[in-house]
Amino acid sequence: MSNENKRYYRKQIELFLLLDKIKLWPSRTGILHGIRSIEKKGDFAEVTTHCGKTFQIYNSRNSRAARWLRNKWVSRPCKDCRIPEWKLEKYSTTFFTQHYGSDLRHKD
Ligand SMILES: [Zn+2]
Repeated sequence: MSNENKRYYRKQIELFLLLDKIKLWPSRTGILHGIRSIEKKGDFAEVTTHCGKTFQIYNSRNSRAARWLRNKWVSRPCKDCRIPEWKLEKYSTTFFTQHYGSDLRHKD
C-alpha cells in the first residue's frame, strides 16, 4: 500500500502543516491519535490529543511522525480519541491523492 501512495507526493510537507490539516498523530506504538490542538512555539509545537496526552514535537520534515503518516505505518486508531470513521477513511484513501495541494502530487 505504501509504495502505491509514494507516487503521489513529490516534496515533503512541513510536519506542523501536515498535522494541522489531518489532525492525526501516530504514536510510536502504531496507534493513531486524534489531535485536539496544536500550539506552535517557534520550532516546537505542543500537541494535545483527544485522549488527553500532551507532548512537544519539532517541526521536522523528516521526523518519525511525518514519515509514519506519509507511509501510513499505523496499526489502529486510539479508542479514547474516538476518531470519526470518515476521517480515518479520508486519511487512508485520499489524503495523498486529492485533497492537499499540488505539491503533494507527482505528475508524470
Ligand atoms: Zn488517543
